[in-house]
Amino acid sequence: MNINQCIKRRKSDRIYVGNVPIGNNAPISVQTMTNTETTDITSTIQQIINLKHVGADIIRISIPTMEAADAFKKIKNQVDIPLIADIHYNYKIAIKVLNNGADCLRINPGNIGNKRKIKQVIDCAKYNNVPIRIGVNSGSLEKDILEKYKSPTPEALLESAMRHIDYLDNFNFDQFKVSVKSSNMYIAVKAYKLLAKQITQPLHIGITESGGFRNGTVKSSIGIGLLLLDGIGDTIRISLAENPIEEVKVGFDILRSLNIRLKGINFIACPTCSRQEFDVIKTVKILEKRLEDVTTPMDVSIIGCSVNGLGEALTSTIGITGYRKDSVLYKDGVRQLSRIKNNQIIDELEKEIRNKSKKLLSLT
Ligand code: SF4
Repeated sequence: MNINQCIKRRKSDRIYVGNVPIGNNAPISVQTMTNTETTDITSTIQQIINLKHVGADIIRISIPTMEAADAFKKIKNQVDIPLIADIHYNYKIAIKVLNNGADCLRINPGNIGNKRKIKQVIDCAKYNNVPIRIGVNSGSLEKDILEKYKSPTPEALLESAMRHIDYLDNFNFDQFKVSVKSSNMYIAVKAYKLLAKQITQPLHIGITESGGFRNGTVKSSIGIGLLLLDGIGDTIRISLAENPIEEVKVGFDILRSLNIRLKGINFIACPTCSRQEFDVIKTVKILEKRLEDVTTPMDVSIIGCSVNGLGEALTSTIGITGYRKDSVLYKDGVRQLSRIKNNQIIDELEKEIRNKSKKLLSLT
């Protein structure tokens, strides 16, 4: 069943971050953030290239200083993926980076000073035709809002977001998206649901500071999954205390698991037991790594024995079912006559998957 057919996405306006559409039924984009020193231009460019390689649609970069804003210009000139500049408090840095080619500004207008400063930033964003993301975070709520609600509740996050949105409204600026993130999944989910009823702009969703790789992946998958199943969310970022490459991979895994956006290989593999005829876990691990550049959507089943192998292979693009010494290959559910020696499964599967990917690409 295509679950996506059951999801009714929230109606939202369309904005563009560079050439990536966000909102109004655009594909849900996956973004992440660099964690190199922005002023270390070589390392930052290399990380951006690596993140693009695994499929990132958009990349955000922290711009804490004027030097970082200068570095941003050089970085932007050498990469071909939309870049969001992340600014806190300093309106001069915001203006500089807008003029240096930012594709989007992450900034909370209420935090950058008086109306004159806010107007200058918004005028510059309008002039450069660049959208803004308001990013409310449970860890940095305004003092008065925290005093009112005693803790960063969903209602507190909503009030903060609406306050920042009012600033943009007052200057007739509607090219923005909003996030209301909390490290508490329940709070984040409720805050997004409240916000979704208040505005028509796209929503950037995520569970902030969700933790290390395993814990953060579980928390993010549940929180983001609940929202997406409710039709809420136009772009996602997974926040992990990990290499940002993993954030991108987890983001696409979530979208693929929900059948929302199919990109890359969906590995179907058994958990293994004493019946396995070849090392399934090692095979999957190696192929996941080797094939991370393949963006063509396809199901690949890697099953250790015939108990479940045939059933999975019949519905997969490519499938292998373990037998003693030589295993059986299936292509589009059709059993192939020649068998694959168990010690050659990894190389043979890689070859088959790449060939299939090329064929599928040539048809599009
Ligand atoms: Fe074990 Fe076979 Fe099931 Fe894999 S498919 S877990 S090898 S019984």
